[in-house]
Amino acid sequence: MNECIFCKIIKGEIPAEKIYEDDEILAFLDIKPVNPGHTLVIPKKHYEKMEAAPDEVVADIFIGAKKLMKTIKEAMSADFVALSVVGIDVPHFHIHLIPRYFNDKMPVFWPKKEYRKGEKETVAEKIKIFL
Ligand SMILES: [Zn+2]
Repeated sequence: MNECIFCKIIKGEIPAEKIYEDDEILAFLDIKPVNPGHTLVIPKKHYEKMEAAPDEVVADIFIGAKKLMKTIKEAMSADFVALSVVGIDVPHFHIHLIPRYFNDKMPVFWPKKEYRKGEKETVAEKIKIFL
């Protein structure tokens, strides 16, 4: 995919602050961080979404992310490192590793809702049908 910004970063056509690279994955700093040290971990092969990537690639990404989480937490003196797969930004499978601080004034999680009575059972059944 020629127009993919992450593929261009892999090829070196767009500069990025790379922090880790091996044969399968690349990790680099997000240019607009939630907090400094916010890192993106991507496979070197283009897959639009995580669901499209082979299991081995998903494993490589998460194993790499596990190592980087520890490193980033220590390097940035973070209280914890949040991991997310957002899925609606750049269409090249990637995960976000975000150093977080208890006093950074951001929600630890998204705003939560309540299920109506009986709704969660219906939702669980609906999901299980597709397994
Ligand atoms: Zn790509």
